[in-house]
Amino acid sequence: MNLSSPAPEPAPSALPPLVPGTLYLVATPIGNLEDITLRALRVLRDCTVVAAEDTRRTGQLLTHFGLHKPLLSFFKFNEARRSVELVERLSRGDIVALVSDAGSPGISDPGQRLVAAVVAAGLRVEPIPGPCALIAGLIASGLLTDEFHFVGFLPVKSGQRARRLSELAAIAGTLVLYESPYRIEKLVSELAELLPNRRVVLARELTKKFEEWLRGTPAEIAANLQARPRKGEFVVMVEGRETT
Ligand code: SAM
Repeated sequence: MNLSSPAPEPAPSALPPLVPGTLYLVATPIGNLEDITLRALRVLRDCTVVAAEDTRRTGQLLTHFGLHKPLLSFFKFNEARRSVELVERLSRGDIVALVSDAGSPGISDPGQRLVAAVVAAGLRVEPIPGPCALIAGLIASGLLTDEFHFVGFLPVKSGQRARRLSELAAIAGTLVLYESPYRIEKLVSELAELLPNRRVVLARELTKKFEEWLRGTPAEIAANLQARPRKGEFVVMVEGRETT
């Protein structure tokens, strides 16, 4: 994707200033840079500091849109310490934008602990909605969307995975999982064993050039992956328990 553009200027009437002392949770693209929103760009432009899971990666995103901001690292292993620091900055009136590497902060990404700390301190939090792999996968899956259960990543250990999947089997809504490319075949074979009759949808490389959808029973998808192994990022949707 080649989008070399400075942040577009929205109409002046649509521009209430950002609120000092607010934590903005800014969703960023999960692949396609055209998915950044106008509000995301404005918050990233007008905030005091951007707290980012990977400052190098976010620095590249900002540069791409012609933005230059102080960046502060905010990842799983410094989330507790940084949360205290960011609450202090917010209390002094700073405007903090939190971003993750891709998608919505706090969804299988750092953020939840900071939001809890900000809420507990009586300070403002405002979401700037945008890309989220689970929503993109679910809405185009063809499975029920009126009730769903977001699982995120399963545990890595086989026994724990099997236990978790058996618990999830009882849920009526569509299950939505994230899985790494290294374990996708393992997950599909676990589904073939534990939930062989459910419809499954794999959404690969969403919003990117090689976006691909695989639909079928777990056994059908396993055969497909065996014939042609796939790399990339996956969201996995599993039909919920039969309720009629
Ligand atoms: N916070 C992100 C969100 O809002 O979707 C999720 C972050 S989580 C660390 C990364 C996982 O999200 C990947 O392993 C994959 O399961 C899923 N994911 C992210 N981008 C994706 C994409 N473009 N296509 C398919 N799955 C994606």
